[in-house]
Amino acid sequence: ADITLNDIEKLEVLGHGNGGTVYKVRHKRTSAIYALKVVHNSSDPISCRQVRREMDILRRTDSPYVVKLHGFFEKPSGDVAILLEYMDLGTLDTLLKNNGTFSESQLAAVARQVLNGLSYLHANKIIHRDIKPSNLLVNRDMEVKISDFGVSKVMCRTLDACNSYVGTCAYMSPERFDPDRYGGNYDGYAADIWSLGLTLFELYVGHFPFLSEGQRPDWATLMCAICFSDPPNLPESASDEFQSFMECCLKKESNERWTAAQLLTHPFLRQ
Ligand code: ADP
Ligand code: MG
Repeated sequence: ADITLNDIEKLEVLGHGNGGTVYKVRHKRTSAIYALKVVHNSSDPISCRQVRREMDILRRTDSPYVVKLHGFFEKPSGDVAILLEYMDLGTLDTLLKNNGTFSESQLAAVARQVLNGLSYLHANKIIHRDIKPSNLLVNRDMEVKISDFGVSKVMCRTLDACNSYVGTCAYMSPERFDPDRYGGNYDGYAADIWSLGLTLFELYVGHFPFLSEGQRPDWATLMCAICFSDPPNLPESASDEFQSFMECCLKKESNERWTAAQLLTHPFLRQ
C-alpha cells in the first residue's frame, strides 16, 4: 500500500540543501527508516519546481546505483515532499570531512558504482548535471548511489544541446562555460564525467582541485581556471592507472572525454 504523510514521523534533520530540508523519518507501522526531502512552496517556488523534477526523474529510474524513490506528497498549499531510500552514512562529502581522504582502492570502488549509475542514466537519456561529493550517498555496505536530481535533464533528442547554467559552478565542465571552444558535438553527457573526475580528485587530495587548500571559491576565478588552465594533475603519489583514469575523465575537449561505458573498462577499476 502507498505510504501517506500520516504514516511517518520525523526523527531528525539529515541535511539542508537549496531551499529544502531532508529529514530522517520512520514509518510508524513497519519501523522502516526513510529520508524525506521537504520543500515549502511559500519560501521557495524554484526549489519546489526542482523537487518535482527530481520526482519525475526518479520515477523513471530503477538502478542499484541511483537512490530509490518511495513516495511523493503534495499539500494543497503547494508544499512538496519526496520519500527516499535512507542512506545511513550520509554523503561522500561528510565521509571526507569525518574520515579524511580516500585511498585509491576506495576510490576505484566509488568510481565503479558512480559510473554504473551514470552509464544507466545516460543510456536512459538522463543527464545529472550536478555530480559532486555532497550529491553521492553512501550506506554502511559502502554502496554509493547518485542522488539530488533537482537540476537534471532528460534529453528528448540525442543532439538536443543542454548548455544552461545549472548545477554547482565549481564542478561544471569547460564545454558548459564555452561550448564553441570545447564543445565539438556537445550533447551534455560528458559534463557528468568531468564532474565525476573532479569529485574523485577532491576525495583523493582533500580539497577542490582548482583551488588551493582553504581558498574560498569565487565564480570568476573558477571559470577562468576551468576554461584556461590545463586540467589539474594528481600528486605523484597516485598510481599510473589512477593518473590515466583521471586524464580520461578530465579531457577538456568533451568529444575526447571517455564515456561512462568506456571508463568502466579502464584498468584503474580492476583494483
Ligand atoms: P539539495 O538539492 O537541497 O542539495 P539533496 O538531495 O542533495 O538536496 O539533500 C541535501 C542533503 O541531505 C544531502 O547532502 C545529504 O546530506 C542529505 N540527504 C539527502 N538525501 C538523503 C538520503 N536519501 N539519505 C541520507 N541523507 C540524505
Ligand atoms: Mg545536493
